[in-house]
Amino acid sequence: MMKSPLEILQKYFGYTQFRLEQASAVENVIAKKDTFVLMPTGGGKSLCYQVPALVLDGTAIVISPLIALMKDQVDALRTNGIPAAFLNSSMNPLEQNQTFHQLKEGKLKLLYVAPEKLSADNGSFLNLLSDLHISLFAVDEAHCVSHWGHDFRPDYLFLNGLKRQFPQTPIIALTASADEITRQDIIKQLNLREPAVLISSFDRGNIKYFVQPKQSVLNHIVQYLNEHPNDSGIIYCLSRKGTEDMANNLKENGVNAAFYHAGIPSSERAQIQDDFIKDKIRIMVATIAFGMGIDKSNVRFVMHADLPKNIESYYQETGRAGRDGLPSEAILFYSNADVMKLKKFAMIEGNEEQSTLMLKKLQQMTDFAEMQKCRRQYLMEYFGESHPGNCNSCDYCLSDFENWDATIDAQKLLSAIFRLKERYGKNLIIDFLRGSKGAKITDYMRGLPTYGIGRNTEKTYWHQLIKQLLLNGFLQESNEEFPVLKLTEKSKEVLFNRKKVNLQKVRAFAKAVTVAETEISYPKNEVEEHPELFNELRVLRRQQAEHENVPPYVIFSDATLLELASYLPHTKEELSQISGFGAFKIEKYGEIFLDLISEYCSKNNLTSKISEKKPKKQSTPKKENQYQAGTYTTTFQMYKAGNSIEDIAKNRNLSLNTIQNHLANFVEVGTIKASELMDTNKIDPIISFAKTQTIPSLKAIKEELGEEFSYFEIHVALAFYKRKEKENSTNQK
Ligand code: ADP
Ligand code: ZN
Repeated sequence: MMKSPLEILQKYFGYTQFRLEQASAVENVIAKKDTFVLMPTGGGKSLCYQVPALVLDGTAIVISPLIALMKDQVDALRTNGIPAAFLNSSMNPLEQNQTFHQLKEGKLKLLYVAPEKLSADNGSFLNLLSDLHISLFAVDEAHCVSHWGHDFRPDYLFLNGLKRQFPQTPIIALTASADEITRQDIIKQLNLREPAVLISSFDRGNIKYFVQPKQSVLNHIVQYLNEHPNDSGIIYCLSRKGTEDMANNLKENGVNAAFYHAGIPSSERAQIQDDFIKDKIRIMVATIAFGMGIDKSNVRFVMHADLPKNIESYYQETGRAGRDGLPSEAILFYSNADVMKLKKFAMIEGNEEQSTLMLKKLQQMTDFAEMQKCRRQYLMEYFGESHPGNCNSCDYCLSDFENWDATIDAQKLLSAIFRLKERYGKNLIIDFLRGSKGAKITDYMRGLPTYGIGRNTEKTYWHQLIKQLLLNGFLQESNEEFPVLKLTEKSKEVLFNRKKVNLQKVRAFAKAVTVAETEISYPKNEVEEHPELFNELRVLRRQQAEHENVPPYVIFSDATLLELASYLPHTKEELSQISGFGAFKIEKYGEIFLDLISEYCSKNNLTSKISEKKPKKQSTPKKENQYQAGTYTTTFQMYKAGNSIEDIAKNRNLSLNTIQNHLANFVEVGTIKASELMDTNKIDPIISFAKTQTIPSLKAIKEELGEEFSYFEIHVALAFYKRKEKENSTNQK
């Protein structure tokens, strides 16, 4: 009897539920209907044809242009016990013949084929297929068939005849990047017959977006990396030289990093890429040359040390984080100097049209970085989807705001602009307001009534106010090389009709790089994980991966290991409740992983917690709510009420580590005394050693001071030290 798609999903892939539009796509293909799937990267396109391939009789042919990915996909299928192979120009004739042989014998459920195979010898490959039983055709990266797409490939045109030659065989076309015209064109070029068109949201709910000022970037990055010692990530820089400097600096700080750019010979590049995929390199510092065709699912963060040129690039690059659906972060370091630099690049001599377009895109990128609204909402709207905002997982939504009546200062500013006849940019307006004696302020200006009425307020304040007024439509900036501030309808209301200006100001900005956020790396299972075991499991996975010469994530995702380290399954039966463990993987890897877990458990007197596990969860990208306002306050209140750290953790279902981080944070802001949390005699040695380091890392200090000092004590001591430094610097002012 034919197995149901859901049974296949569980048995071979170890997942319990389909995601997004997967279920409809699978159903359609099984019903032999043509199907068009538009899903963001990481959305789970592969299962849309892999599951039908296993439900239907015959061999599924998958056309895919990325040779490197092809091999990974086939490796992944084979580790799940699915007979699959690929054909491309990297193979010698003997290997190709073997694959042909398997194909003819009907031994393959899936065959991946590079597009150039289709066009070779006038399409002889397709002729060969006519004699075989083909279950379906999957056209991956289907935008390559369209001139409208950004990556047209002539070989794809051969797919034009597919439907005529195989009228009974369903075609499923998949892409992550297609606007309306490209979409229509794909359907037309492939001659799809009344296809089901399935479009998933482009929202990547598991990625948190942060924008931070570009100041002491290296320090911030090193701090972040120290706080996320097990996470792998990509750092994008604008120039080749930039990647080299950054990577070298990171290495000097003890980080396992490498750089990657188009100036490196291609064989070396392939090696670096491979090392990154196989978790041998933790941090990749790269230009935009890096990333196309990389399918590493456990990239936990993507940073932009320099501003990207446009939103498209930014979104594509940040999209490389979190393909496994686990919480991940995108962090952009933003400076005005970068905008100036990119503006110069955007001006292409002799091509005004192109320059204008590039400048406009740069402006949108700048708006994104500077605006005060939900970043996810901006991104979604940019790509033509509506979003209600309040995503609770971007720095804006996670920040603490207060209302602010800015009417009086706004009146001063707007009337200055009015008096100066809307002819100047912000710098001059601010100088004028602050009563500057500079040469640019003429005698005539000095005679005007508003001259100098803002002299008691800092320049930065006025800059901030202008930004806010611009964002809220109380002002406009002209589109010239030296932009001029202009009044709007709304500003005239303020000037002449006493309209109030209510703005918001940030009370506390959410940042990616702060000490208390180690908890965000992974979503919490119902039960706390054992970090030591988690690390041992990673090591085992890596050994196994090296042994089989495949990337580690092909064996198990981080999410699966995390479940193992939490629920401590002891039998194969219990393993089947772990997401990512299908029947085949239980047979293949069950024993070695169970052995490791039992050993760990008997050493530490632990038993299985599988009974506390809710039914297998779908690892759909979902919105995390861990930043919920008040989490710190709750910890603080419980602590003040006399609860022990252990009790707070248990009660709040958070890790000990998290609660300790919260408390250390309160030491830093001065609400809790360090002496309440630790023996103060230990503070001095910790700080003296920390001072010898450019950027103190908990780990390095722990290694130096040894057993007698716990991480928590070190953390508290550093917090205490930071507090002291802050006090000193404010006293000096
Ligand atoms: P895409 O090709 O759209 O970029 P993939 O097919 O590579 O995405 O899938 C991304 C990740 O999501 C993979 O690690 C995959 O195993 C996982 N995944 C896909 N579908 C599901 C599902 N229904 N449940 C859990 N994980 C899934
Ligand atoms: Zn938001």
